Amino acid sequence: MIYKTRGIILRSNFFSETSKNISLLSENFGKIQLLAKGALRPKSPFAGQLEIFCYGNFIYQKNQKNDTNTLLECDIISFFRNLREDYNKFFYTNYIIETIAAIVQFTEESKKIFRLVLNILQNLNISPKEEMDTLLRFFEVKLLYFLGFLPSFNYCDNCNAPFTGNFWLDLNSAQLICNHCHIITLSSLAISIDIAKIIAIINDKDLKILLSLKLSLKQKKQLENILRILLDFHLEKKLESQVFLRK
Ligand SMILES: [Zn+2]
Repeated sequence: MIYKTRGIILRSNFFSETSKNISLLSENFGKIQLLAKGALRPKSPFAGQLEIFCYGNFIYQKNQKNDTNTLLECDIISFFRNLREDYNKFFYTNYIIETIAAIVQFTEESKKIFRLVLNILQNLNISPKEEMDTLLRFFEVKLLYFLGFLPSFNYCDNCNAPFTGNFWLDLNSAQLICNHCHIITLSSLAISIDIAKIIAIINDKDLKILLSLKLSLKQKKQLENILRILLDFHLEKKLESQVFLRK
């Protein structure tokens, strides 16, 4: 069977002396592995095409016998040059790609996630430095939401009472707890009600409205912490790219 899909390259590894193994976030079939035979030969049509972050159209054949996929054709639409050449943008993109590689299961249908990643990479490619963190927060909130991991920031996960003031994030369970249910421990983080509202805005509105919001440094830091905790809770391993982002 032959398949066609748009996709973004998450990983590009040497498979043999002449071939490459590609991990692709595809629009139609979730994450897939593609074997690009002969890609490392200088005259291969794939030469220089199969780099990490590249976005394009891919045609591949599924080999029923051993359940592998062989890449037949690719047509790269964007290499996202700025994401490679700008030191900061490179690390931001690497973080997005590594998160997707670590969190989204293979073969899951993921049109929304594909379009989210594409939207963020296209924006990051042209965005000024001041907007880059907001783009990451948008990516994190939407990704958590699409995967079903974004908690309701309206109600206590323990007693269901609506939040009226500040509340708590339990770090061991990733649950949100009201002041009444909360027992003071080292493993919980206080959350102000305005952060809950900001997360709701991020999730409901588009990127343009979000970029026009003026958040205080304290709000930005709190938002970053909460999303980090929620994502780490659902990731199988710590991301190496995070270390660079925090520097
Ligand atoms: Zn409660």
